[in-house]
Amino acid sequence: MIAPIVRFAPSPTGLLHVGNIRAALFNWLFTKRHGGTFILRLDDTDRSRSKSEFEVAIERDLLWLGLDWARKERQSDRIGHYDAAREALIATGRLYPCYETPQELDFRRKRLLAQGRPPVYDRAALKLSDADRTRLESEGRRPYWRFKLASEEVRWDDLVRGPQHIDEASQSDPVLVRDDGTYLYSFTSVVDDIAFGITHVIRGEDHVTNSGAQIQMFQALGANAPVFAHLPLLVDATGGGLSKRAGSLAVADLRERSIEALAVCALLARLGTADPVEPVAALDTLVETIDFARVGRAAARFSEEELAQLNARTLHILPYEAVRARLAQDPGEAFWLAVRGNLVTLADAAGWADVVRGPIEPAIEDATFLTDAATKLPPEPWDDTTWKAFTSTLGRKGRALFHPLRLALTARETGPEMAKLLPLIGRAKAEARLRGQRA
Ligand code: GLU
Repeated sequence: MIAPIVRFAPSPTGLLHVGNIRAALFNWLFTKRHGGTFILRLDDTDRSRSKSEFEVAIERDLLWLGLDWARKERQSDRIGHYDAAREALIATGRLYPCYETPQELDFRRKRLLAQGRPPVYDRAALKLSDADRTRLESEGRRPYWRFKLASEEVRWDDLVRGPQHIDEASQSDPVLVRDDGTYLYSFTSVVDDIAFGITHVIRGEDHVTNSGAQIQMFQALGANAPVFAHLPLLVDATGGGLSKRAGSLAVADLRERSIEALAVCALLARLGTADPVEPVAALDTLVETIDFARVGRAAARFSEEELAQLNARTLHILPYEAVRARLAQDPGEAFWLAVRGNLVTLADAAGWADVVRGPIEPAIEDATFLTDAATKLPPEPWDDTTWKAFTSTLGRKGRALFHPLRLALTARETGPEMAKLLPLIGRAKAEARLRGQRA
C-alpha cells in the first residue's frame, strides 16, 4: 500500500468524547500501521460555535491519548480555497443559486409528503432566468447554492461496510453555500481532502449518507474520491446513542477520573471487532492488529464498567517506566511491581505509597500476638523471602496469623502480597506498627 494520508476533522465546538475519538484512533492506528501521515483538521467554519478553548482541549486530549499529528490545518484559514472551488463548480454548472425561503421549502416538502412522494428538492431554481434572479435579489433575497447531483447510482467499496451504493437521483441537491456566503462542511471537507491528498476518509457511520454527494463533488472538482471507511457508532448498554452522556464520557473527564489513555484506546480499538478486548501496554500492539475487515457492522456497545475493568487490567501489566512520571516522588520499580496488581486506577497508588512510606496509624487486632511478632522480626537486609521466614516463626496459621499482621502493618484489610510490601515498609516502621505505634 502507498503511504496513506488521513485526517481527523473535529469541529472545535465541544469536547472530544469516546464517541468521536474512535474515529481519531482508527485514523491514527491505520497511518502508523502503513507508515502514513495523520492530519488534524479543525472544522471551524462555524465561527459562532467554534471556540479556541475547544481547539486547545481537542489537542490536549489527543496528545493525552497518544494520538499525535504530523500537520494541523484550520478550515477558517482556507476560505480562499473554498471560494476558488465554488467558482469552479459554478463555471461548470454544478453549483446553482437558489432563493427559496426556509418556509417555502418547508411548504413544498410537506406538499410532496402529503402526495406520498419523496421530499426531494424540485430544482425550481434551475428554471429561473437572469431577469428572475435580478428581481429576487432586488427584493432583498440573497442566494444560497446547491450542488447539482448527477442522477446516477454512486458506488464505493467501504473498508468497513463493504460495497455501498446510493441512488443520487432520489436525493435533494445538497446546499453547499448558505445565503450569508458561509460554506457547509460537506463541501469544505471535499476541497480539503483534495488539497491535502487524503487517501482514506475514516469516520463515523453518521456520514455514510454524505458520501454519495461527496464522491460526486470530488469528481466535479476533477479529483478521484478517497477510499472510505465508516465506523459503526458506539451505543450505550440500552442501545441508545452516547451523545446524551457525552459530557460524562468526555476525554477530559476520563483523564480526571484517573483512567488510563491506553485503556480507552484499547477498548475503542477492539469494541465491536472480531478481536477480544484486552489490555495492552503500548499503542504499538493496537497498531499491529488494526484491520477494518475485522470491524463488525453492528453498533458497538460501550460500557463504563468494561472501561473500568480494562483500566485495572491495563495497570496490572504496565511496566514501571510507563507510569513513573505520573507517580509522586518516584517510588521505585519494586513498589510498582508490588502494588500494580491491586490498583483500580493509578490514583490508588498514592494510598499504597503512604502505606510504604508512612506514617500510618496501625490497626491493632491482637496486641499480645503482635508485640511478640515485633520481637521476631529478622534483621535487615530484607527481600521477598523475609515475610515467609518471619511468619513461620510465629506459631499460627491462616487467617489468625495473616489478618492481624496485615492490619497492623498496612492498616488495611486487603492489599498487595505482604512478601513484596514488607521489604518496602522496612524493619523500623514494621516494628513500630506491630507495637501499635504510628509510623
Ligand atoms: N467535522 C466533521 C465531523 O466532526 C468531520 C466528518 C468527516 O470526517 O468527514 O463530523
